[in-house]
Amino acid sequence: MDIFHEIKPLKAFLREKNKADARVGLVPTMGALHAGHLSLIEIAKDQGCLTVCSIFVNPAQFNNPEDLKKYPRTLEADVALLEKAGCDVLFFPSVEEMYATKNVITFDFGHLDKTMEGEFRLGHFSGVALVVSKLFHIVHPAHAFFGQKDWQQFTIIKQLVKDLNFDLQLHAVPTLREEDGLAMSSRNQRLNTEQRKKALIFYKTLLEAQQQLHAGKTMSDIEKSAKRNIEQDPECKLEYLRLAHRENLTALSNVEESDTAVLCIAGFIGDVRLIDNILL
Ligand code: AMP
Repeated sequence: MDIFHEIKPLKAFLREKNKADARVGLVPTMGALHAGHLSLIEIAKDQGCLTVCSIFVNPAQFNNPEDLKKYPRTLEADVALLEKAGCDVLFFPSVEEMYATKNVITFDFGHLDKTMEGEFRLGHFSGVALVVSKLFHIVHPAHAFFGQKDWQQFTIIKQLVKDLNFDLQLHAVPTLREEDGLAMSSRNQRLNTEQRKKALIFYKTLLEAQQQLHAGKTMSDIEKSAKRNIEQDPECKLEYLRLAHRENLTALSNVEESDTAVLCIAGFIGDVRLIDNILL
């Protein structure tokens, strides 16, 4: 695997590869890689891509400095996993390399970035859009791979690609889960054994909510009872449980309103913030 820390040599390398008609596939990550990330690499490889994985803990998308500080960083293990997965290129820039000049641009995605994560993480999606735009300009991928686990992020990136005419194909990859159903996440590493058990409550809540929706209950009742149930444990907190239209993310109150809906959840176990969703 070729490893680049700087933009210029990476661009020169990819320019040569593109002359030889490589299909460049980009998998942007923040590292602390797990099998979910590797499934994105695998799919990029299956598509015949020259696979570029970026690892960059992007300060612009963190609204909470403590969360940024505590975000797991496991470069050595990440490199070994990427090598084993057959990743072709790792781009691992420093903050100074990615933000050589202080950015002034902000992004506004209308309703898409005001709901759910946008309500609780102000400026988060502007930071995501900024770094993803930078990566698209640096790597010029023909394909880019993102996880369904971050459904709202995927929706916003789809809009970014449309609005800015990025010439690439986006792929949404299904969420990989642990055996018990917990969505794989780099943040799971920060949970202790007890918290790890408690973290399953979010996926369980999604499945229960799905059943209740099909039984005719409305979202406001479901959200209220989920909050009561989750917050019985003082270490657990529900931020939101929402049903939304998959494409435009408008809030829905029941399943009859749309046949393409996504049920999203976010909350805390201790100081670890977790998100999950299921497509209905
Ligand atoms: P992150 O490093 O958390 O920013 O994630 C990098 C990419 O991996 C994003 O597109 C995520 O949606 C995706 N991803 C994270 N967790 C999973 C998972 N459990 N299954 C599939 N994709 C995932």
